[in-house]
Amino acid sequence: MAERIPAALEEKVRKRLSFYQDIGIELFYRDRFPRQHASVTEEITLPKPVQKPQQAKSTAPMPPPASKLNMLPRSSDVSLFESMNKIADDSLPKILADIGDCTRCKLHRGRTKLVFGDGNPKAELVFVGEGPGRDEDAQGLPFVGRAGKLLTQMIEAMGLQRKDVYICNVVKCRPPENRTPEKDEVETCSPFLLRQLDAIAPKVIVCLGSVAAQTLLETNRGISHFRGQWLDFRGRKLLATYHPAYLLRNPGAKGEVWKDLQKVMAVLGLQVKKGLPAGAGQSSGKPS
Ligand code: URA
Repeated sequence: MAERIPAALEEKVRKRLSFYQDIGIELFYRDRFPRQHASVTEEITLPKPVQKPQQAKSTAPMPPPASKLNMLPRSSDVSLFESMNKIADDSLPKILADIGDCTRCKLHRGRTKLVFGDGNPKAELVFVGEGPGRDEDAQGLPFVGRAGKLLTQMIEAMGLQRKDVYICNVVKCRPPENRTPEKDEVETCSPFLLRQLDAIAPKVIVCLGSVAAQTLLETNRGISHFRGQWLDFRGRKLLATYHPAYLLRNPGAKGEVWKDLQKVMAVLGLQVKKGLPAGAGQSSGKPS
């Protein structure tokens, strides 16, 4: 007779399997061959800049087709996102229900409200931030604090309203003192972000800051290496730009962000109307 595994281990396995089910992984395969781990001395190549297509009439820059978009070198050879298949008939309400009253990572302990996301469930444009701050935690809505107000201004400067786009974060619960989410927290929560992105199926994903960009692109590279470039995320166009909180500290970087957003507007067929609201003063700091 087969030996039973200890009850505590069985419970752990049960929880882990139900987590995988929640994030859309239902099949498991055993590797037939041991993985070849990348050597630390392996040369990392910079992403090649996307070639600007020749245009006779229109001045709007056209993005390359998704198949020609850059891939960044990965921080790991194991891609969680690639192993996740698209869930048939998935929807934001289903994902929210699967998250439930989440206690999967330690961030739940300090949470007032879980911040799932907000906006048009069929949006062509999704903004992905890092994680809720104090105001978001209190209201259960993303980007409603100071950085959120700037994001709203940016969206409106694009000729859109918040209700036209979808806004969400990598982690759904506020990290203590607004610290950067830790690896285990990102790993636990980001599959739900992936499901959100698959369910919305936007034309363009804009990552706000390095946490969102590094998470979705599965890279350790600093955002300044690839900010403003069209990149591929599961066959969708992804562009990373600076986080609005960084812009509050460094208003001088708003021009670069505005250029990035203009690229997005061109893809979405939006007309450029006005610039970003001018920021007061200028200081320096690490791009985030
Ligand atoms: N910063 C983020 O990254 N997300 C929010 O929702 C608010 C601030």
